[in-house]
Amino acid sequence: MYRLNEEQTAVIEEVRRVADESIAPHAADVDAQGRFPREAVDALAQAGLLGLTIPVEYGGMGHGIRVACAALDEIAQRCASTAMIYLMHVCGCSCYVAHPQAVEDTLRQVARGAHLTTLAWSEKGSRSHFWAPVNQEAQNNGRIVLNAKKSWVTSAGEAEGYVVSTRTAGGEEPTDTTLYLLLKEDEGFTVSDRWNGLGMRGNASAPMTLEDCQIPSERALCEPSDGFRTMLEVVLPWFNLGNAAVSVGIAEAATSSTQSHLTSARLEHLDSRLCDLPTLRARLAKMRVETDRARAHLTSVIEAVENPDQNTVLLVLESKVAAAETAREVAEIGMQACGGAAFSRHLSMERNFRDVHAASVMAPTSDVLYDFIGKALCGMDLF
Ligand SMILES: Cc1cc2nc3c(=O)[nH]c(=O)nc-3n(C[C@H](O)[C@H](O)[C@H](O)COP(=O)(O)OP(=O)(O)OC[C@H]3O[C@@H](n4cnc5c(N)ncnc54)[C@H](O)[C@@H]3O)c2cc1C
Repeated sequence: MYRLNEEQTAVIEEVRRVADESIAPHAADVDAQGRFPREAVDALAQAGLLGLTIPVEYGGMGHGIRVACAALDEIAQRCASTAMIYLMHVCGCSCYVAHPQAVEDTLRQVARGAHLTTLAWSEKGSRSHFWAPVNQEAQNNGRIVLNAKKSWVTSAGEAEGYVVSTRTAGGEEPTDTTLYLLLKEDEGFTVSDRWNGLGMRGNASAPMTLEDCQIPSERALCEPSDGFRTMLEVVLPWFNLGNAAVSVGIAEAATSSTQSHLTSARLEHLDSRLCDLPTLRARLAKMRVETDRARAHLTSVIEAVENPDQNTVLLVLESKVAAAETAREVAEIGMQACGGAAFSRHLSMERNFRDVHAASVMAPTSDVLYDFIGKALCGMDLF
């Protein structure tokens, strides 16, 4: 459905190979232990896939949102935690690429597979309203001083780079923000808790505390006060469409898991299989239809992003909530269709069910997106 050309197809075949060999075999253990999928990230790095969206001039593969979504879909089918880590990495990369003069060396490191990145935007104080950090930078002899309570930072303590948001020094509006690159070796930040989520349990999405954390001002990832625009115009399309691709991938996994359970589990006293029950076949069919519908919607939004017009912003807002809520419904049907076998954790279905709930509460949350879409339709300002 992603309508890939020959070169793009080859990339996705490589993603599939890496996912089958090095991601899928560890997914259940990553989930059970709630541990970071280090072997999966290393395999993506080794295959050059951390540099998927980095321009060729910095040694990357130079691919865009279409290939990134197809890759995220494939990875999410095997391990949603790894897919979310990869999505946050792709989003961090979009900030690097938008402001390359600050991070040329880092871009080359990403392309070499030596640098994983992520976004540290959400805060204890402004919760899911990621566009409004409550921390405010101070400046000290060409250095930026940050004191912040960041929450839910995917790959916290594991990533080499963190795109950190702060209210600009002297800025009075909550959206007067600037983005900086914080490096793992910088002093002044700690990962302040361990991630133990319902789903996405491999994510390491932990809080980070920054205390008098000093960063050279040259590590700004946008012009001063241009953080809000960068968040919405540069990162949001990658995040929303990529998040939709993760939801679609999880829905795909739930559908295929249900298909294989219904066609293999037997009712011996009737000499039949579960799929001989019409109710269960209809449930499987609905899962298939909804998953295909969500992926088709996503691919039409990819086309809109590649050829933007006045409707594109609305479609970008729609993409995440449409896929998230459809995938949640698909997983719910799968839990019903597979019965106790799903509930008792004999199938990967229940992991899909838990993982799929993250998208609705990841900012911009489904509630907020419906509100934004409604406001846009009624001609109102979003903020
Ligand atoms: C698995 C996972 C990974 C994450 N990774 C990252 C990351 O890498 N970087 C990062 O910065 N953040 C990350 N986050 C944080 C995420 O983006 C949200 O900030 C976080 O989930 C918000 O949770 P909260 O309890 O603070 O929500 P709250 O803001 O307290 O929201 C509670 C409820 O209120 C609703 N609500 C809030 N505002 C409105 C409104 N204006 N209108 C209508 N309803 C509203 C929400 O939809 C939600 O249902 C991650 C979260 C998860 C779950």
